[in-house]
Amino acid sequence: MMAREQLIALSRLSRGNTGFGRLNNNTNTTMLLNKVLWAARAGSCRSVSSLPHEKKKKVTKDTSWEDYDGKLRREAGDSARLRLPPWLKREIPIGKNYSKLMGDTCTRGCRFCSVKTARKPPPLDPSEPVNTATAIAKWGLDYVVLTSVDRDDIPDGGSSHFAETVKELKRQNSSILVECLVPDFGGNKECVAAIANSGLDVFAHNIETVEFLTPRVRDPRARYRQSLKVLEDAKVATPDLVTKTSIMLGLGETDEQVLQTMKDLRSAGVDCLTLGQYMQPTKRHLRVSEYVTPAKYQEWQETGERLGFAYTASGPLVRSSYRAGELFLKSLLQERKQKGSQAATTE
Ligand code: SF4
Repeated sequence: MMAREQLIALSRLSRGNTGFGRLNNNTNTTMLLNKVLWAARAGSCRSVSSLPHEKKKKVTKDTSWEDYDGKLRREAGDSARLRLPPWLKREIPIGKNYSKLMGDTCTRGCRFCSVKTARKPPPLDPSEPVNTATAIAKWGLDYVVLTSVDRDDIPDGGSSHFAETVKELKRQNSSILVECLVPDFGGNKECVAAIANSGLDVFAHNIETVEFLTPRVRDPRARYRQSLKVLEDAKVATPDLVTKTSIMLGLGETDEQVLQTMKDLRSAGVDCLTLGQYMQPTKRHLRVSEYVTPAKYQEWQETGERLGFAYTASGPLVRSSYRAGELFLKSLLQERKQKGSQAATTE
């Protein structure tokens, strides 16, 4: 873990919020969590104690969110933007093992997203599945996240292209764990099944926000119920699949709406959930309505665990591509595989 990430982990520990998700009923993973946190704690102590006195005071001040008396929520009719609170003035610990498929231009236009959009982006590169798999195999990774823009201009939304990449990747490196963060494919079951049956390990699709805010936040073609169904259909196609989703907070949602979303996700069989702060990417995008406090994230963490998600990561800096989340998913998948092979030997 990098020194900066260690500092983040320490600040979370000092607030009683690790920011790292926990897996339920999973001893090995809990041990892993402890190892990560102890490494973080040791490294962070060294980082802070070696700072000059003034900087040390600033680090301590910045990591104590309870002392912050700035405004955290915009009231109706408020035109001013909120000031960034201290707990968000740090680097976001995201994974770097990403590969984006199907170009850099999306056919949709969600109001929180800064990706380029066009009605008809350039055609797909037919050699992309093999080339991507070959490049990833060379990187020597044990966990990779494949993601893409939405391609509503292509009849199957690019699902066969996506699935082909996973198959090629697994053919070149059978031990690599593959997470696919996929579009909703307009709710098309065949497209969802093509991905779910491609041999991937984690099927991720982001619900993004609560039902009430979905029409304002996401592209009109991205519907809340449709996203729930996509996650559910992936499980129906491949029941052993781990499914994962992500919610952004700070867009004006109420606690009741967040709780209902979490319940809806559990009803759709979703295993893993991340909750993190929405950050306005440019002036043209939706404004932040609220900077949610670390204490509130801790509450959602506990709610997620109570509702029975196998893994919940909730914190201001948590993203769907959360680095620590990958560690837990790796551990969860490896344990499942071990159990599967033990069951096969005893049969
Ligand atoms: S569909 Fe995804 S990539 Fe496209 S605009 Fe929305 S969030 Fe961005």
